[in-house]
Amino acid sequence: RQSKQLGQTISRYDAEEYAVELTAMTLEAELRQAFINRQLVLAFQPLVHARSGSLKAVEALLRWTHPQRGAISPQVFIALAEQSDLILDIGGWVLREACQQAAAWPGGPVQVSVNVSARQFESPRLKEDVLNALLVSGLPAHLLELELTENMLMTSGRDVVDVLEQLKALNVRLALDDFGTGYSSLAYLNRFPLDVLKIDRSFIQGLGLETYGQKNLAIVRSTIALAHELGIEVVAEGVETGLQREILVALGCDLLQGYFFSAPMPLEKAVTWRFGSGPRLTQP
Ligand code: C2E
Ligand code: MG
Ligand code: MG
Ligand code: MG
Repeated sequence: RQSKQLGQTISRYDAEEYAVELTAMTLEAELRQAFINRQLVLAFQPLVHARSGSLKAVEALLRWTHPQRGAISPQVFIALAEQSDLILDIGGWVLREACQQAAAWPGGPVQVSVNVSARQFESPRLKEDVLNALLVSGLPAHLLELELTENMLMTSGRDVVDVLEQLKALNVRLALDDFGTGYSSLAYLNRFPLDVLKIDRSFIQGLGLETYGQKNLAIVRSTIALAHELGIEVVAEGVETGLQREILVALGCDLLQGYFFSAPMPLEKAVTWRFGSGPRLTQP
């Protein structure tokens, strides 16, 4: 009886696992199809100068609205795409599309940040895709920023310094995204040719609050000081309140990004965006 119960549990578990996998397979096939049918689009979120609130750059963020399931989080579908070379095709397209939109920005080309995935970073295609996107769009290289994460650098099978230097040789900017959430190591701030640190929003969230706020304040303050000593610019991610902004301005943070200024927007809205010109604190 005992073993039968165990057996049932196992088979029910198998069935659940099977269902999860089946759903993932279906979703991956649908993602592939959506990509071919040009149903993936980019949203753009402003990065602003901390003091003035004026636009410095935009971050391109991928969006997929599934015809039946609705909006699917990029964290979910990027992870799916990462399981195969599909991410290389999607990533190449994101680079081209982001550069093209940034080059055609009304009022003149704008700086654009593009997220790079771990599998892309492992592939020699990345450099070609970056070069191709710049050539096809005509965007000046210094207006393209590639966002990398600590984890992809620390777990990479490639010679990370060499890859980063090859990218820097194209004259693009390199940013470290979600700083403080991965295998943080102060050693690589020295070794890697980084232009920007993006402090993860988990450290920004508590600023100005009693409980975790004091510790976060210390972390953010010293991160900014350290980055500046090394000649690295600092972006605070996930700024949602005026108080957080005030604190970050006081700490000397260079750039801010978050719902306080704007959620990611479709291109048509992003090109006319100015701080104070629309509703704030709205979710994408
Ligand atoms: P990320 O690169 O760290 O992007 C910032 C994420 O934080 C975005 O989520 C953005 O909508 C969200 N965000 C911005 N401001 C706020 C705020 O004030 N509060 C809160 N709670 N969230 C805020 P999103 O668009 O869902 O993207 C999630 C992640 O998916 C990105 O994190 C990035 O890692 C990945 N991703 C998105 N687009 C791409 C892409 O084209 N390629 C790759 N490889 N990854 C992408
Ligand atoms: Mg990012
Ligand atoms: Mg981030
Ligand atoms: Mg992230």
